[in-house]
Amino acid sequence: NVRVRFAPSPTGPLHIGGVRTALFNYLFAKKNNGTFVLRIEDTDQTRYVANAEQYIIDSLNWLNIPYDEGPGKNEKFGPYRQSERKDIYKKYAEELIANGNAYYCFDTAEELDAHRKNHETKGKTFIYNWHNRAKLTNSVSLSKEEVEQRIANGDKYVVRFKMYEPENNTAETIEADDIVRGHVSFKKEILDDKILFKSDGMPTYHLANIVDDHLMEISHVIRGEEWLPSLPLHIALYEAFDWQAPQFAHLPLILKPVGKGKLSKRDGDKLGFPVFPLAYTNAEGEVSRGYKEDGYFSETVVNFLALLGWNPGTEQELFELEELVKTFDLARVNKSGARFDPDKTKWFNQQYMQQKSNADLAILFAEILKEKGISSEEKTIEKVVSLIKERAVFVNDFWDLSNFFFEAPTEYDAKASRKQWKEDTPVLMNELIAVLEGIENFNSTNIETIVKEWITGKEIGFGKIMQPFRLSLVGAMKGPHLFDIAEMIGKQATIDRIKNAID
Ligand code: GLU
Repeated sequence: NVRVRFAPSPTGPLHIGGVRTALFNYLFAKKNNGTFVLRIEDTDQTRYVANAEQYIIDSLNWLNIPYDEGPGKNEKFGPYRQSERKDIYKKYAEELIANGNAYYCFDTAEELDAHRKNHETKGKTFIYNWHNRAKLTNSVSLSKEEVEQRIANGDKYVVRFKMYEPENNTAETIEADDIVRGHVSFKKEILDDKILFKSDGMPTYHLANIVDDHLMEISHVIRGEEWLPSLPLHIALYEAFDWQAPQFAHLPLILKPVGKGKLSKRDGDKLGFPVFPLAYTNAEGEVSRGYKEDGYFSETVVNFLALLGWNPGTEQELFELEELVKTFDLARVNKSGARFDPDKTKWFNQQYMQQKSNADLAILFAEILKEKGISSEEKTIEKVVSLIKERAVFVNDFWDLSNFFFEAPTEYDAKASRKQWKEDTPVLMNELIAVLEGIENFNSTNIETIVKEWITGKEIGFGKIMQPFRLSLVGAMKGPHLFDIAEMIGKQATIDRIKNAID
């Protein structure tokens, strides 16, 4: 029974690395008829951002990868917000203390600082671990009564995990088999005694995460590689509780488009591409751009994210969600980092643009037109879309490629006018108007035949008519087939625009 979870901390907008983690969890769940759980890891109240949870949910919904179980949905193992599960964790921290795997520490910040300084003067780094543990008078050496007394006094404490105990002959290494990374082994002696619980009643990420994965019956933990260093502690915790650990899969890092290192939230602004699925406004009112608002289709985002760290083993690059569900396999996730390529994301969008029906694109374009105060018939918009979509990467490009269908030019490209609008042009354009007046069936082919016949009969170059004709209708030397434009805007508007240009 496959149960996976996406467990973001609501500290701000979800960046695409997080979205990739969610997607891989979703794909793995669906492929195996499993359950995709959303759990909100909000135990760090200092970093909590109120609208972040909704942002995460909106993002998953936009990408069509909704969760099966989570806040407000099939709350079988709920609540799914860790802040609402506070009471649960305390009991488990106490259980570890009772079985000797964890202990109370009352060290003050000043004391810890002194330890650090003391080590520094000897050229060493202070680590809270087996090596120093016994020398720390405010922790493991305290008797049960002393501990109780200090808690009763209201002294601040933390609960730490006893990672390694050579005196008790505990194993020296922690071993695990990661689905992506293969066999991994960690030496316990270099690991520290991590904090599990604090006297403010809140668990740390590590304790809450393990307890919840266990209680929520998670079978596979699929998460970013940045969590690999936490794996030994997590495995050790499962052992300390005597619970069966889930299987782990650590996904490779997403690397910057150029240079070294992991893609960061700041790279987007620097290099001019979004790193968030949806646009986000922070508390200071600063807006970060999102894929959706930049005009990407959700299919595009799903597709390029799927290929960041996973490959199908074939040359195929275009995958819609359904096909991904069928093809996806954790065994084909790479170990090495995946380089993010913003140009490639545009290529994907162009591909999906061509695949979309004109009717679907027209609905999106109609919204943009509406914002501009332009209402046009569905059929017209659809026709326009069919004429321009080949040249568009984003729906947001449509307006620039097609504004002349909806409104007459108010100005004319200066350079083109100088070149194309000659002294004899007004006379020729008036003749053209007369020719157009006479066309009864004003459709593209018909107009083309009649106008071209007329030009041929006059024995002048096509350019002398066609260029100023285009300039009159479009305002610049751009746009699709001119006779298509004429048909679309209709006879009267075509003639009016030429008259306007002559004036
Ligand atoms: N809350 C952690 C995060 O923000 C979850 C890590 C995990 O999946 O274990 O990514």
